Amino acid sequence: MPDPDTAIADDPVPPWRDRVSAAARTLAIIARTRPGLTAAIAALTIIAALLPPAALYISKLLIDAVVAAIDTGLDADRMVALRWVVVEAAILAVLLVVRRLLLFEKARLHAELGFAVARLILDKASRFSLARIELPRVQEMLIHAKQFAAARPYALVVRGFDVLQAAVTLISITALLAASAPWLIILMLLGGLPAFIGNLRFSGDAYRFYTARSPQMRERNYLESLVTNEAAARERLHYGLGDALLGRYSGLFRDMYRGDQKLQGRQAVIGSLLGVLGSAVFLGGKLWIVAVTIAGRFSLGQMTMLIGLLKQGQNAVNALLGAFTGSYEDILYVTRLFALLDLEEGRNAGTLMAGPAPGDGLRFDAVSFTYPGAPGPALDRVSFHLSPGTRLGLVGINGSGKTTLVKLAAGLYQPDAGRVLLDGLSLAEWEPTALARRIGVMFQPHVNFKLSVRDNIEAGIGLSSLSPDAMERALASGLATELVGSLAEGVETRLSKRFAEGVELSGGQWQRLAMARAHANEDADILILDEPTAALDAEAEAAFMAAPLAPGRSLILISHRLSNLRTADQIILLEHGRIIEAGNHETLIGLGGAYADLFALQADPYRT
Ligand code: ADP
Repeated sequence: MPDPDTAIADDPVPPWRDRVSAAARTLAIIARTRPGLTAAIAALTIIAALLPPAALYISKLLIDAVVAAIDTGLDADRMVALRWVVVEAAILAVLLVVRRLLLFEKARLHAELGFAVARLILDKASRFSLARIELPRVQEMLIHAKQFAAARPYALVVRGFDVLQAAVTLISITALLAASAPWLIILMLLGGLPAFIGNLRFSGDAYRFYTARSPQMRERNYLESLVTNEAAARERLHYGLGDALLGRYSGLFRDMYRGDQKLQGRQAVIGSLLGVLGSAVFLGGKLWIVAVTIAGRFSLGQMTMLIGLLKQGQNAVNALLGAFTGSYEDILYVTRLFALLDLEEGRNAGTLMAGPAPGDGLRFDAVSFTYPGAPGPALDRVSFHLSPGTRLGLVGINGSGKTTLVKLAAGLYQPDAGRVLLDGLSLAEWEPTALARRIGVMFQPHVNFKLSVRDNIEAGIGLSSLSPDAMERALASGLATELVGSLAEGVETRLSKRFAEGVELSGGQWQRLAMARAHANEDADILILDEPTAALDAEAEAAFMAAPLAPGRSLILISHRLSNLRTADQIILLEHGRIIEAGNHETLIGLGGAYADLFALQADPYRT
């Protein structure tokens, strides 16, 4: 599997091998999605391809029969001519029905395939590790995939059918031309070539152009969301950011549009020149057919048919070559989709359900971690031991590495050096769900799921169902019982004003739900709370801190309010990712170092 850092080469046009494999894999998706539907479309396509040349042949028979009937004046000849009228009308009627059916079936395929591809993308996105999905390149690939690749596989298939249709039409036209004027076959083929070569050149251009500017598109989407998103509305309105944001948005649009126009302008000019060339070729052929007919070599019926065949043939050549160039572009995009689907997910592949030292708890053993591209480590040789039934307090200024430590303790990041062990087993070796079951986390910032209250709590156990009692206990642990009791629909209340019947909560209320979520998993013997009381009122905070720990459960608590940590068995003070002081409250105060200073700073305003 490719590494995301190298998966997108500097030159974004992928090699031929990848393109061929992308086309083959798209076909495999379709075959899996709806084999019957695909076969039906193929059959209808072939019928739709054969009917127009057949109609031309019938019209030749009709005109010749009309001329003969005029010559002879016989009733029998008149009947023959009338019969060809009926046959021709029947063919055209069938063609009409087949084309409508094709449209209908293709719309079905579009929906089915779009869904199948969207699922593949979302499935992949959901399986990336935190470190992977945070990589800007992975984000870019995801956005690109969602934006283009979902529609492109369908386009690729449709072009495949276009090729089939044009090829069948061409073969039948070639057969008809071969019988009366074989050299027109060469004329017909030559007429389509210039457009093909031009298009082939352009499609690579367009692809390079659009992939190169995905960072701008990302920025444009973000600016758009800042203006429309309700979460950003407060600051946008208060600080009057609307015009400035729109200004940036428009600037980006104009830059991108200018490039767009240049590209399309070039395509239009060259495209029309090539179109004129094609028409000239057709005109030459038509002049020859008319001249030769006047000289008596072709019947009137043949003349009409040959002119029609030449026109249809040239269209078919254009369609065939156009489908090739179009699919070239689709394949380039689809290749990117598969590059995303092939990315390494970076997830723990552990399989073990228990460690060799049950009851040992959580250990950090000289753990270091550096974010990709960061100048220095966010955690630097951090060691501590959290044994069952104990509380650990984490203190440090913003950016000192507390949240990073939480993510490593939850197994979301792998250390660059050192080990994180649970019951003596490295987190990477734990089976991911077994590990998740052992650890309840309240993250900072936590997600406010704009779903029901129930979903917000049950998210803590993978969105499976909590018994009413367990729900009550979780709400009580999050100090959310009263809050939920006051909601008209209780735990079934839909949250967020984004939905018509949704109820909006305050920051502190959301925080209570996040806390209840962290407590939802009662099997967890380690609870990690990152700033759990930051948005709580003083009373709630005191109540939370006074709550006893369930037997055997250990707690990691991050708090800026040092008074919250007085009861902790050990307190770790982090600075620039390093532990600078460790001990319990009394020891650290006795040490008279940074912790003691910080504590005095926080305590003094109340004392005076
Ligand atoms: P704290 O929780 O103590 O405020 P963090 O652990 O969030 O600190 O951050 C520690 C350092 O890592 C900071 O310098 C921060 O800029 C950096 N950092 C945090 N998250 C990321 C991330 N997702 N990608 C890159 N750097 C990050």
